[in-house]
Amino acid sequence: MKEALLYDHLESLKVHCRLCSHSCVIQDGKFGFCGVRQNIKGALYTHNYGKLVAANIDPVEKKPLYHFLPGSFAFSIASAGCNFRCGFCQNWQISQADPLNLQPAEDFTAEEVIKLARESNCASIAYTYTEPTIFFEFALETARLAKEAGLHNIFVSNGYMSGQAIQMLKPYLDAANIDLKFFKDSSYQRICSGRLQPVLDSILRLKEAGIWVEITTLVIPGENDSVDELSGIARFIAGISRDIPWHVSRFHADYKFDAYQDTPERTIKLACDLGRAEGLRYIYAGNLDLWSQDTFCPSCKKMVIKRDGFRVSKLHIAKNKCAF
Ligand code: SF4
Ligand SMILES: [Zn+2]
Repeated sequence: MKEALLYDHLESLKVHCRLCSHSCVIQDGKFGFCGVRQNIKGALYTHNYGKLVAANIDPVEKKPLYHFLPGSFAFSIASAGCNFRCGFCQNWQISQADPLNLQPAEDFTAEEVIKLARESNCASIAYTYTEPTIFFEFALETARLAKEAGLHNIFVSNGYMSGQAIQMLKPYLDAANIDLKFFKDSSYQRICSGRLQPVLDSILRLKEAGIWVEITTLVIPGENDSVDELSGIARFIAGISRDIPWHVSRFHADYKFDAYQDTPERTIKLACDLGRAEGLRYIYAGNLDLWSQDTFCPSCKKMVIKRDGFRVSKLHIAKNKCAF
């Protein structure tokens, strides 16, 4: 166990955690909503520091990040736990771990993660699969060492971290893919046990901090596939920047949403059309093998990045711009 960052001591041995927007007040002996951070005699501890349940070499495209170091590999790590309870979670076995019986995990030091990333020729470390905010202390330490070693850092996140957490990450974090799951607060509350506004705030704060941001929306039939909701999401993104890539992903039945239908292809096409109508320049259809994943220059219309699955097969980029 390691003492947590970002918390305050309160009266009667209670603590206030400021790491994420749940802003838990935790009594002595109890856990926060994430099930990972515990108040022990008036001090807050994290149970998952350096305890990794996944460590893989992934194409950065798999995060997905399509406009950040295309064609490179990200050393991808996760610890158990999450601050959301999404009924459609695709990594629920590790994200929804029992706090008193955390998933079998392997102990790592931040130095070991950096060494493995370098040995495997990764250009970045990705904090991913579960919610990286929930292993913040280990992610921050690893990110700091990664920067020193010339590696980049990537968060794949639900965007529920606090503004203070973003400020602490800012010197080290290079890119983030943030899930914008719904555009209705009631859906965030009912399905994920979260709220909408903190996620929107985080997207804005990450952009303002100079961190490269891409957005993912998993389109779930009957939950967030209305014209209003998809347009609302696209309008919000375009309002920040038309150059933010939007990944609209096809849902497949999982976890508590096992009775749902897979997202029809026409719904994904509708989302792409609505995104374009709102002015977004880069929209990618995820989990649909038949669809083009290529990037076209919005000025000259030529293909600048050709992708076969998660592999980049052609790259016409010069000085971070269309080479044509
Ligand atoms: S990280 Fe979030 S959910 Fe966990 S204890 Fe802190 S405020 Fe609560
Ligand atoms: Zn061009």
